[in-house]
Amino acid sequence: MSNGNDLKHVLNERQVKRLTQWTPTRQRMLQRLWSGGGTRSLAIRMFCLECVGEDVPAITGCTADTCPLWNFRPFQPKPKKG
Ligand code: SF4
Repeated sequence: MSNGNDLKHVLNERQVKRLTQWTPTRQRMLQRLWSGGGTRSLAIRMFCLECVGEDVPAITGCTADTCPLWNFRPFQPKPKKG
């Protein structure tokens, strides 16, 4: 019987090493992506976090508008309604 914690993906040596460098919550997100789960928006979020060393304000203030992900980067202020 599955308890939801089954390993669907065996991590390679590089993934195991890289995983230890992330916070625990983000480790779970990354493992979900590596196992083929998650969403594209989660993948973009994790890529931006990787790009700036998990510095959320750096993503909010990212000025690299030539980056293909720039318009899709997370942690942006929500547009005001009205
Ligand atoms: S949008 Fe900015 S933070 Fe995200 S990957 Fe591109 S350069 Fe890095």
